[in-house]
Amino acid sequence: MFTTSSFFLGCPQICTYTTQGEDGLEHTGKLSADSLLAVFPEPEKVPQDAWWVFVHGEEVALRIRPCPAAVVPEDPFRDTLMPGDRLYLGLRGAVPCYAGCVRDQAAVPDDWQFTRIRDLYLRIPDEEMAIASFAVRMVAFDRNTRFCGRCGAKTLPVPAERAKECPSCGLVTYPRISPAIIALIRRGDRILLARSSRFPSGMFGLIAGFVEPGENLEHALRREVMEETGISVRNIRYFGSEPWPFPDSLMIGFTAEYAGGELTVDPRELESASWFDREHLPRIPEKLSISRALIDWWLEGSADGPSRDVPDPDRR
Ligand SMILES: [Zn+2]
Repeated sequence: MFTTSSFFLGCPQICTYTTQGEDGLEHTGKLSADSLLAVFPEPEKVPQDAWWVFVHGEEVALRIRPCPAAVVPEDPFRDTLMPGDRLYLGLRGAVPCYAGCVRDQAAVPDDWQFTRIRDLYLRIPDEEMAIASFAVRMVAFDRNTRFCGRCGAKTLPVPAERAKECPSCGLVTYPRISPAIIALIRRGDRILLARSSRFPSGMFGLIAGFVEPGENLEHALRREVMEETGISVRNIRYFGSEPWPFPDSLMIGFTAEYAGGELTVDPRELESASWFDREHLPRIPEKLSISRALIDWWLEGSADGPSRDVPDPDRR
């Protein structure tokens, strides 16, 4: 089911979209750009009312006043954009949306600043943040696929879809998506949280890892958990998914239950891992991530949940 809502922030009224499947699975992704429709070929001319996101490297331009916005129906950088610096993203509602590749950050007008995607969270609507994030990814895709990976010839955009084609050897290249599993593992009234050296000080998160070629998601989950912590799991259940554009992951979230094994951390992957109950949680990820959505789901859940009959030898 596709629903539309709108709100007013002191700026022109903007539509936001949420999705909820008929099977009851609610979409959890804050970075899902599903309000952009992949309608191709792109318009011959950029319409006057087009939406724009301005990208410089990994950052997007944020308009500070009159209210924060990253997807705007205006082009304050038009004097600095070269003809090839425009990238069609799709339709937002009925209106085309474009990424503008800004070459010189110094040209930023008053009331604008370049910002990392993560720093847009809670400053602008999620739908806008998702489009901005998508724009950064598509600009990176465009930049990284200018030449064919097989024969080295210069590539061309495919008119009918988001892809590049080599006119010399015919290789078609699509935006890369790297699937990764993430798992909330329960043991009695506790969950497994782990700490990577890449995390901010004191923060713990869930076990996660990339899916290897030839694996399905369940195999990837069992392997990652075993490799990183030495335990086995059972009762794997799908939770939800989240595009994670740092740079190109799709996080697929699951819940699972401890089945056996001794908690033994692989020091190449983790600094530490422990079982935590609700009253003694460490610092956990921000609400932007599916990791936090899984932990919040567990925090809000009933103690009578399915983890109740899972043996917890450490608590005897
Ligand atoms: Zn080629």
